[in-house]
Amino acid sequence: MYELSLPSRVDEIEFDGCSYYIKRDDLIDRDFSGNKARKFHYYLQSSLPNIKKVVSHGSSQSNAMYSLSVLAKIRGWEFSYFVDHIPSYLSENPQGNYRAALDNGMKIIEGEVPNDLLDGDGVLFVPEGGREESASYGLSLLADEIEQFRISYQIEALDIFLPSGTGTTALYLQKYSSSKVFTTPCVGDEEYLKRQFLMLESDETHHPTILNSDKRYHFGKLYRDLYDMWQRLYDQTEIEFELLYDPKGWMVLHKHREIFTNPILYIHQGGLMGNQSMLPRYRRKYNKTTPRE
Ligand SMILES: *Cc1c(COP(=O)(O)O)cnc(C)c1O
Repeated sequence: MYELSLPSRVDEIEFDGCSYYIKRDDLIDRDFSGNKARKFHYYLQSSLPNIKKVVSHGSSQSNAMYSLSVLAKIRGWEFSYFVDHIPSYLSENPQGNYRAALDNGMKIIEGEVPNDLLDGDGVLFVPEGGREESASYGLSLLADEIEQFRISYQIEALDIFLPSGTGTTALYLQKYSSSKVFTTPCVGDEEYLKRQFLMLESDETHHPTILNSDKRYHFGKLYRDLYDMWQRLYDQTEIEFELLYDPKGWMVLHKHREIFTNPILYIHQGGLMGNQSMLPRYRRKYNKTTPRE
């Protein structure tokens, strides 16, 4: 059986004069890192003898797509992934998550998922971004690890912060955790995130607390202030964060710093493979060198 290296470690950092604990889920596995390793943990561990093929859909650069390609490779399953369309720059010049997923044997198809693949024989269908109940298994383990950390560091109360896409991770974490979970929407707005929470859990007392930025950021677009945040984080902590979710997460955390009365644990949810395509885009736009060079 394939083993993830768990529990992930916790680092203590200083950033802009404040201290934080960082849960290093980016280090869970060389290939299968972070958030998606947690969300797909169940599929890694359970026997599922009838499954021959994973089917999913979403964007052609998503972290979930890449992680599913790793899962499929580990389990010896086929992997078919459906996208609206493949941008020509990507098919001419494959990079980042897209390229790595192709290298893992992903079959990428333009169009909708055919009905016979949604619940076909031997098919494991995974909704976009891994938004589903099976994620609760891995996330309850994450909540346990955090609780163990809190107890062993003799921290009376801890606040947890992580940026959200579908909100699946934040929601299940809040459900299984005794600590308060704070998050910010990176993909849609606050209303979108609330709807996502409600789809998975009708009891709002189990929902994470949503914090917002002053400015609106569109997912996947480039913003100077987000890039500067990422760079500042790297310079001060020597930790490479991800470029789609983390900069907004830190922006929001920073802005609301005073409302936190307890020590803060920030969850580094991995996804660094995606930086291989985001960084060149940022470099082209702002013409800066990166710490990797
Ligand atoms: C997928 C992902 C998220 C979002 O997780 P959700 O459970 O969809 O909210 C955040 N950060 C990284 C790095 C991710 O890969």
